[in-house]
Amino acid sequence: MRCIFCKKDSSNSKSVEHIIPESLGNKKQVLSKGIVCDSCNNYFALKIEKPVLEMPYYASLRGRKAIETKKGKIPGIPGFMKNKNETELKVFPSESNTLKIVVEDKNVWDSIENYDKIYIPLYDKPPKDNLNVSKFIGKIALEALAKRVSSCEGWQNDFVENDGLDELRHFVRYGKGYTLWPYYIRRIYDENQISYDRKSDKTMEIMNEYDFFIPDKPTINGEDNRLDNLYFVMAIMGVEYTINLTNTGLDRYLKWLSNNDNKSILQMEKRNFIQT
Ligand SMILES: [Zn+2]
Repeated sequence: MRCIFCKKDSSNSKSVEHIIPESLGNKKQVLSKGIVCDSCNNYFALKIEKPVLEMPYYASLRGRKAIETKKGKIPGIPGFMKNKNETELKVFPSESNTLKIVVEDKNVWDSIENYDKIYIPLYDKPPKDNLNVSKFIGKIALEALAKRVSSCEGWQNDFVENDGLDELRHFVRYGKGYTLWPYYIRRIYDENQISYDRKSDKTMEIMNEYDFFIPDKPTINGEDNRLDNLYFVMAIMGVEYTINLTNTGLDRYLKWLSNNDNKSILQMEKRNFIQT
């Protein structure tokens, strides 16, 4: 068994890989042990996911949505006071749209009494053109693709051998080849949107969803090349992220968007965009 990122033997690996981090509300979408080796799993957790989840947008989002961390803690929303010394505060959402502020330090409490104003910056979207965010989305895209094909026999070897995925693979795992792998972000629905799920007959909040998409069927030298311009489109709490798995171009996707009233494929019925 070989790891889908470094291609090294992963038969003895013990870690289960979460495609989208648990800290962003994903409990179920995982790759079983050996698909991503322990060493790659560790690298992604420490060098990619950790810095991304600590970015102001994600830190604030995790606090606002009160998503438990792996260790079962609910992170606070970062805030600060505009006094002589800026002080970090942990602000927690509480019942009936109020915020609870937890103050453990007496000096901080005195400052609140004296200065009265607390600032809680809100961030609507993650940053554009950020190296760690691009590796983060690229990693999720490759893992989601692995998950999608994992019911076919012999898939793991084919996935490892598929050199059409090497550029993105090397970029997310070793930072090789590019200073940034371009991604496209936009908000497609509200962070708290509730939807009706026909399958389970339940109303639920959509934490995350994704799909794959080939905007048109390109040909190279007259031959079909199914893996050219394969896009991954994902939404995490209303923000849509799009990345190309096979090259760094977003132009075909953007062209498709402008020809389709900027609709999101995640909000369309499949028959409306799959070309037969
Ligand atoms: Zn590996």
